[in-house]
Amino acid sequence: MIHGEIHLHVRQYINGRWETSATTGVSANPSDTSEVVAEYARADRRQAEAAIRAATEAFPHWSHSTPQRRADVLDRIGAELLARKDELGLLLAREEGKTLPEAVAEVARAGQIFKFFAGEAIRGGAGGGGGENVASVRAGVQVDVTREPVGVVGLITPWNSPFVIPAWKIAPALAHGNSVVFKPAELVPACGWVLAEIISRAALPAGAFNLVMGSGREVGQALVDSALVDALSFTGSVANGERILQTAAARRAKVQLETGGKNALVVLADADLDRAVDCAVQGAYFSAGQRCTASSRLIVEAAVHDAFVAKLRQRLKGLKIGHALERGIDIGPVADEERLAQNLAWVGIAREEGAEHVWGGEALERATRGHYMSPALFLAKPSHRIAREEVFGPLACVLRADDYDEALALCNDTPFGLCAGICTNSLKHAMHFRRHAVVGMTMVNLPTAGVDFHVPFGGRKGSGYGPREQGRHAAEFYTTVKTGYMLA
Ligand code: NAD
Repeated sequence: MIHGEIHLHVRQYINGRWETSATTGVSANPSDTSEVVAEYARADRRQAEAAIRAATEAFPHWSHSTPQRRADVLDRIGAELLARKDELGLLLAREEGKTLPEAVAEVARAGQIFKFFAGEAIRGGAGGGGGENVASVRAGVQVDVTREPVGVVGLITPWNSPFVIPAWKIAPALAHGNSVVFKPAELVPACGWVLAEIISRAALPAGAFNLVMGSGREVGQALVDSALVDALSFTGSVANGERILQTAAARRAKVQLETGGKNALVVLADADLDRAVDCAVQGAYFSAGQRCTASSRLIVEAAVHDAFVAKLRQRLKGLKIGHALERGIDIGPVADEERLAQNLAWVGIAREEGAEHVWGGEALERATRGHYMSPALFLAKPSHRIAREEVFGPLACVLRADDYDEALALCNDTPFGLCAGICTNSLKHAMHFRRHAVVGMTMVNLPTAGVDFHVPFGGRKGSGYGPREQGRHAAEFYTTVKTGYMLA
């Protein structure tokens, strides 16, 4: 049981053992920076390499384990996450700053992901009966197409969803028989550690799962560089993703990237405006806008533009911003001082470029010292930087469109392609949008953020690379296909 007030001392998990490191770091509560959440061991390259070797040695054993064994391991992890969701949600809210209800929901979803992949291990993972038996074009020859695990996978994750993003990488990796080296973001070591602690008690062979906490430049890069790491799944910024892709592809590792977004929510004149405002508030500002699926461009048809902006402004005025653990809070702090400074700099850039300020964008003081800011709204032009670049904070802009066609063109006028939403009562426009928005996920009359755990997640263009995450499609990344011929 992890109590709210206690600060944790967290260590690496390498080859089935807990290890300290030569240096340590601390994570602080973004709602109250005087509170240390965890002191954590910071691994160096040598420890990362030891974890990779342990995973390499464990691979033959784990990859030949029975589907039942893998299912039991994953089911146990999922059950514990679900049973402890309130307690672990408290830790997540303290370390990352999302509100307690958001944090509890995230832990529950992580639990559901492990449970889903427990089923996948049985249903059709590598060696789990997911193959095909195909008639040969030659007489007397039988053909089998089977899936096998890829090998050692390096999993590198960001700070904004420290339970659910690791879960949707670790669970399919293990379900399909791969061994894992997991590197969480440095802002959220306690969340990474607690997940590893639960996994460490789930009867995996030593080395099949390893945790290494430390810097991206040293520990993350060690995973990217190592010839022993067969596949890398990375979620984070575009710039880091691109660097990782270049290095890893040069040594022919399999790579999956989930990177930024500049997601649009289109609001048509025939939409239920209250519903559209709800979608905008939830999608753009909840979790302090620190979601890759956040709606940062609100593209509104001219006929309802002013009414929509007025209603949204009214809603923003009423939102409660405060300590993530305080009851009734809508938005917690942003993750750290650097992100707060970046968000405020974006507000300055928007003003300088001539975007019209509608609401917010100021640093706020609360009873505790934290990284608080009011949600910001601007009216922008498509050429403004706030309409083009990812902000990753509670800042959105409204773009005016003359009609549906212009709204769709604006929606697709971006280097990103993660998700896009539309609020409309027109079946014709909803269907057209679903087909023509150049993204990985579409939403009709729903916020752009908020997805199910059993279906593919991911984007196109600058938002993603490689196969999708989550659901049955995860097998495309975590397995490799083998074709077997036999003369009967
Ligand atoms: P980041 O790129 O700074 O870091 C992500 C991870 O990569 C961290 O664990 C970091 O330590 C590691 N890293 C950094 N440099 C590395 C290197 N050279 N080699 C290997 N690993 C390295 O991103 P962040 O600030 O933690 O997260 C915010 C970003 O993540 C945003 O751009 C956001 O859009 C993106 N994101 C995307 C999704 C998605 O699914 N599309 C989901 C959440 C967040």
